[in-house]
Amino acid sequence: MKSTEEEILEGLSSQGVTAVKRIFMKKGTSLVATKHVILTFNTTKLPSTVKAGYIYCKTRLYIPNPIRCFKCQRFGHSKTACRGRQTCCKCASVDHLTSDCQSAELLCANCKQPHSSYSKDCPQWKKEKNIQEVRTKQNLSYYEAKKL
Ligand SMILES: [Zn+2]
Ligand SMILES: [Zn+2]
Ligand SMILES: [Zn+2]
Repeated sequence: MKSTEEEILEGLSSQGVTAVKRIFMKKGTSLVATKHVILTFNTTKLPSTVKAGYIYCKTRLYIPNPIRCFKCQRFGHSKTACRGRQTCCKCASVDHLTSDCQSAELLCANCKQPHSSYSKDCPQWKKEKNIQEVRTKQNLSYYEAKKL
């Protein structure tokens, strides 16, 4: 729990681990470290456990969340690569910023259903999450996985 990412990497490098990232959780305004870490292995097959000190830790495939653009709200690119229009993530309007939103009704910019663009109930979000899963499991790029 108290080890830094560097210490964990040093301890696990002999087991094929090439990168370590601790998962943080938001608690109020501060970020707290969880007991979960994201490990990158130099193999294509995920080992079912890694040995940390005397303890065997179970591994699970990590599926990252879809990337959603904070500017146009579309999936698959980030704000810096955006060529779309600034879109409110609450009501899908292009006339104001999300922080200035006065709308009482939610509208998703991606699927036009009554929820915010960051809702995890969004069918588009679920589709994108599925692309992430395929992409992670088959080691594909986002565009390759999307074409499947
Ligand atoms: Zn965009
Ligand atoms: Zn709005
Ligand atoms: Zn939606």
